[in-house]
Amino acid sequence: MTKRMLTAVLTVALALSLTACGGRTQQEAGETRTVYTMDTVMNLTAYGENASAALDAAEETLRTLDAKLDRHDKASAVSALNRDGTVEDAELAQLTDIARTIGELSGGAFDPTVAPVMDAWDFTGDAPRVPSDEELSALLAHVGLEKLSVDGNTIALSDGAQLDLGGIAKGYAGDAVRTVLAELNVTSAVIDLGGDVGLLGAKPDGSDWRVAVKDPADPSEFLGVLTAADTFVVTSGIYERGFEENGVRYHHIIDPKTGKPAESGLVSVTVVCGDGAWADALSTACFVLGEAGSLALRDTLAAEKNLRIELILVTDDGHVRYTAGLAERFEPSEEGTYVYEAIIA
Ligand code: AMP
Ligand code: MG
Repeated sequence: MTKRMLTAVLTVALALSLTACGGRTQQEAGETRTVYTMDTVMNLTAYGENASAALDAAEETLRTLDAKLDRHDKASAVSALNRDGTVEDAELAQLTDIARTIGELSGGAFDPTVAPVMDAWDFTGDAPRVPSDEELSALLAHVGLEKLSVDGNTIALSDGAQLDLGGIAKGYAGDAVRTVLAELNVTSAVIDLGGDVGLLGAKPDGSDWRVAVKDPADPSEFLGVLTAADTFVVTSGIYERGFEENGVRYHHIIDPKTGKPAESGLVSVTVVCGDGAWADALSTACFVLGEAGSLALRDTLAAEKNLRIELILVTDDGHVRYTAGLAERFEPSEEGTYVYEAIIA
């Protein structure tokens, strides 16, 4: 596939699709709604006659969730938890429990208590900086899955721990939007959460969507295109957030063992998984774990959770490795400088 063709594919397949219908050509346009929330520009595209009302409901769902999960919003449930050490909220408890479970399955590579370390780096603030080793080790005393507990609808933190759902919230929001759209009889939609994509059903003409996967070296270019339906495609990469100091780039995915940006040999991980929250947290976890750890986690998920995921791993030495389940679905870019390899496992 050429670069020009790839650009035409854009992040997701076109908002317009042409369907031949009884000899006439019927044009079905999707309706797109742009929502600024969770520090991200989200584009929701729904098809069918209920699209408009369903998008209203989806937007409302996103705003409600953001108001609950944003730890920088003093009125949020997460802020209440971080301030008081405990909070009762059924939905937050359910999401936190997923985060904790993925934390455990990943051996702590995913850790939703990294908040104090994130704050020290201040990746999204006005003055990002490199904290000293002493500062990081002092902060790490407050980080750890064992400091987070969920009991029924009650979440509790100990040892000065703070909850940060930044690695899972967007994916969960994608699940919530997909549910709302489906409840309002939308059968075909693209939920673009700032590059991470949730797909409801297939395209209105019944064919699969085409999702472009960004090149971590140049996010305006694509590594290739994935053909998919009814799933989530979520990427964690070095390019998303970060800053540069003295010629070194510091990105926003932290290895909870060191408190520093993870250096696992991977520069990007794309997870294809039917569940948005899991896809999101797993992309972060796999980024920290590296290639071998990611493949081991994939096996663990299949064995212990009956959850099948597919991965596209980009290494810092220019390889793109994708799991065998994507062999028929991932079309590498012809113009990339990467070496593409299917992982036979
Ligand atoms: P993502 O872009 O989904 O990979 O998530 C990155 C965000 O997750 C960061 O902005 C932090 O809020 C949070 N985060 C960073 N490192 C971790 C980690 N090791 N485990 C859990 N959350 C993390
Ligand atoms: Mg994530």
